[in-house]
Amino acid sequence: MAKNDSSDGLGSPILLTRFEKVLSWARKYSLWPLPFGTACCAIEFMAVVGTHYDISRYGWEVVRFSPRQADLLIVAGTVNYKIAPALKTIYEQMLEPKWVIAMGACATCGGFYNNYSVVQGVDRFIPVDVYVPGCPPKPESLIDGMMMIKEMIEKGEPRARESWEEKWKERYDK
Ligand code: SF4
Repeated sequence: MAKNDSSDGLGSPILLTRFEKVLSWARKYSLWPLPFGTACCAIEFMAVVGTHYDISRYGWEVVRFSPRQADLLIVAGTVNYKIAPALKTIYEQMLEPKWVIAMGACATCGGFYNNYSVVQGVDRFIPVDVYVPGCPPKPESLIDGMMMIKEMIEKGEPRARESWEEKWKERYDK
């Protein structure tokens, strides 16, 4: 946003901006998260929306369990191959633009469940914008991750979605 300063030194009530800037400004303060909670990390997510950490300070408290009403998917917990198709369907049902956070070691890389049934990172199925480390991550860490999403929106940074398919094609088509 740019202020249109007038030469009389009194400033001007007119603000010049672009429509996308206004949209980003509104978006970053009104994320609607959908928690895909499968294990203990989801309990930590509950703390984030509780009164102590209170993400409504940032305008992100409207937690939605319908993918069509959410724009931030938070994968919180262990994801196995049986449930991965459901996660993918939920992601695909969310409207654009949308972002994804992998919360905790399990969602990021399988955590300590290095076995045949657990997905070794949800980015094998869906694009992930921010990885939040920890087992479980502290509420502050998740808030930090959400702040990163806020910054991405503010700066208009490309989402993981935009390069994800290419990345995986490269990795698996070898
Ligand atoms: S990362 Fe740790 S706390 Fe989170 S779901 Fe996995 S085992 Fe549980």
